[in-house]
Amino acid sequence: MATNSSKRGGHPTSGPAALPPELVPELLDWYDAHRRKMPWREQSTPYRVWISEIMLQQTRVETVIPYFERFMEKLPDIAALAAADEETLLKLWEGLGYYRRVRHLHQAARLIADAHGGIFPSDHAAILNLPGIGAYTAGAIASIAFGQPVPAVDGNVLRVLARLTGATDDIAAPPVKVRFTGLLQAIYPAGRPGDFTQSLMELGALVCLPNGEPKCADCPWHDRCFARRHGCTATLPVKAPPRPRRVVERTVLLLCRLDAVALVKRPAHGLLAGLWEFPTLEGKMEPDAVRRHLEKEGIAITGDVRVLGEAAHIFSHLEWHMTGFRVECASRLPGCQWATPLEIEKVYPLPTALKAFVRRWLAGT
Ligand code: SF4
Repeated sequence: MATNSSKRGGHPTSGPAALPPELVPELLDWYDAHRRKMPWREQSTPYRVWISEIMLQQTRVETVIPYFERFMEKLPDIAALAAADEETLLKLWEGLGYYRRVRHLHQAARLIADAHGGIFPSDHAAILNLPGIGAYTAGAIASIAFGQPVPAVDGNVLRVLARLTGATDDIAAPPVKVRFTGLLQAIYPAGRPGDFTQSLMELGALVCLPNGEPKCADCPWHDRCFARRHGCTATLPVKAPPRPRRVVERTVLLLCRLDAVALVKRPAHGLLAGLWEFPTLEGKMEPDAVRRHLEKEGIAITGDVRVLGEAAHIFSHLEWHMTGFRVECASRLPGCQWATPLEIEKVYPLPTALKAFVRRWLAGT
């Protein structure tokens, strides 16, 4: 596939002006032979496709499958999702991360119940109008659930197309996404749009891998691919380096009384909104400083201040570096409530970031 560079609409572009239509049957034949079984593929209702696509954002298929099945069991349709309370939803999502996704699902289900009679809209513009649904997810739902020839272009698809065509622009640049969407739109098969969407995703997940060597020998586009023919699969796609993450030091306090530990709810907005956590102090503190702080707050300490060790958690934009302490107390900080191990398991949604301290607490560390 020849590469050329030009300026279109004031934006730099590289790669071909059109994609050969033969790409479609070649990829669909490969997909028919290699597609993985997934619960949402066996029964592609709009609700199931929607939930799966939201879960799959930033998350691997193997991780999503048990979450998806549990979600479907508890909330089998839009009406059940719209009627669910926030704590139930956060608990079902616990460990998947990016909790804003489940809040948007909730808002969108209520909107569908109010504005669309409880029926998931099939109109592409109406899908795009739902909370938490961008161009990629709208394209995926429209093509997979409703059989509309609408491309769904995410980072995986951009990577595959950049290698295939030899495009050298930064794939994070919005004009590049617009251009690839247009190129795909021109060849989208009216007969199997959903399968074509899924075949592109599958190729990106199984063959044209993001990290390490792509498996070009297994690729249906092996003979056409610019990057394979020119030996530049390691340098394509071109991507601007990510911004460095901010490091935040935190002191995590497990205030324990009998078999319970104190939890406090995080604010309703921002990172991990609405989840529960252990009371936390900014910065890295020593045991004596922790004791002085708690005594100043009026907490009745009944034992040692024991170090629970360190743990780190990486978010997309920041890192928490945490030091944990276990403190036996007769009282708790304002706003906290006591929770038993069973309640932590079944009721309170806790961030994965804190699970290391839960394990150490339960192990009696
Ligand atoms: S030949 Fe290799 S680099 Fe090209 S699209 Fe296929 S897997 Fe990706």
